[in-house]
Amino acid sequence: MSTEPIACQHILDVKELKLAKEYVCEECIQSGSTWLHLRTCQTCGVTLCCDSSPNKHATKHFYRTGHPVVISAEPGEQWLWCYADSSFAEY
Ligand SMILES: [Zn+2]
Ligand SMILES: [Zn+2]
Ligand SMILES: [Zn+2]
Repeated sequence: MSTEPIACQHILDVKELKLAKEYVCEECIQSGSTWLHLRTCQTCGVTLCCDSSPNKHATKHFYRTGHPVVISAEPGEQWLWCYADSSFAEY
């Protein structure tokens, strides 16, 4: 029995990480909102705010676009998350 988390296929398909270009939520900055943590979409490279932020832009982005995988854009955090499968992996 292994307790290792199994990354889903979406995460396995990410060959080259898209890193945050700027350390801001691209949607919050336009509406003048604030955010807590940042996530970067691995399909289109947009950086948006996490579920602990008031606007939850990264989750909304997934529901709108179907882009499943984000990475944490927080310094020192090295993990991927797939919204479609609730799959988590460190890198
Ligand atoms: Zn997945
Ligand atoms: Zn935001
Ligand atoms: Zn995207």
